[in-house]
Amino acid sequence: MKLLEDRIRKDGKIRNGDVLKVDSFLNHQMDIALFDEIGKEFYRLFSGDGVTKILTIEASGIGIACIAARHFGVPVIFAKKNKTKNIAGDVYTSKVESFTHGKVYDIIVSREFLRPEDRVLIIDDFLANGSALQGLIKLVEDAGATLVGAGICVEKAFQPGGDLIRSMGVRVESLARIKSMSVEDGVEFC
Ligand code: 5GP
Repeated sequence: MKLLEDRIRKDGKIRNGDVLKVDSFLNHQMDIALFDEIGKEFYRLFSGDGVTKILTIEASGIGIACIAARHFGVPVIFAKKNKTKNIAGDVYTSKVESFTHGKVYDIIVSREFLRPEDRVLIIDDFLANGSALQGLIKLVEDAGATLVGAGICVEKAFQPGGDLIRSMGVRVESLARIKSMSVEDGVEFC
C-alpha cells in the first residue's frame, strides 16, 4: 500500500536496526485518515470472506482494528494481556513473547465473545517473529472458530514471522513489507 509505505519512509524511525518506530502516526499519535485507508484496504482484501469478528491484541492493534471494523460492520475483540497469575473463569488463553520487551505473557479472550460459528480476521500493527500472531491464532483454534486470515500493517519480511505463519497455511496480507532497513540506508520495501 503506497500510502503507508510513503508515510513510513517519511516519518518512520529506525532503532537498533530491527525496530521501526511509528509513534507519530500509528502507535502513539494516530493518524485516523490513514487508519481509514488501511481499514478500507483490509476490507477490499477480505470482504468476500464472511468475517464476523475482528480479533487483535492490546494495545497498539486496537485503534487499527476498530477503524477497520467500521468497514466490515463487525465487532472487535482485543486479547487482553493478563496481569494476574491465576487465569480463572471462562477464557481462552495462550502465551506471547513480546518482541519489544522480550517478556513472555499470557493473553486471554472471554469464551463468551469468540464462538465456534465465528469467522475471524486477525488484525495487528506489526509482524516480526510471529509470536503475537501465533498466540492469537491459538485462541481462534481453541474456540473452534474459523480463521479467515491476518491483516498486518507492517511486516518486517527480514524476520521469520511471515514465512512461519504462511507455512501454517494461514493467509497473511501485509500492507507494507519491509525487505531491509538500517539507520544508514533507511527502509527498503519488498
Ligand atoms: P512478533 O510477535 O511478530 O515478534 O511481534 C509483533 C508485535 O511486536 C506487534 O504486536 C508489535 O506491537 C511489536 N513489534 C514488533 N516489531 C516492531 C517494530 O519494529 N516496531 C514496533 N513499533 N513494534 C513492533
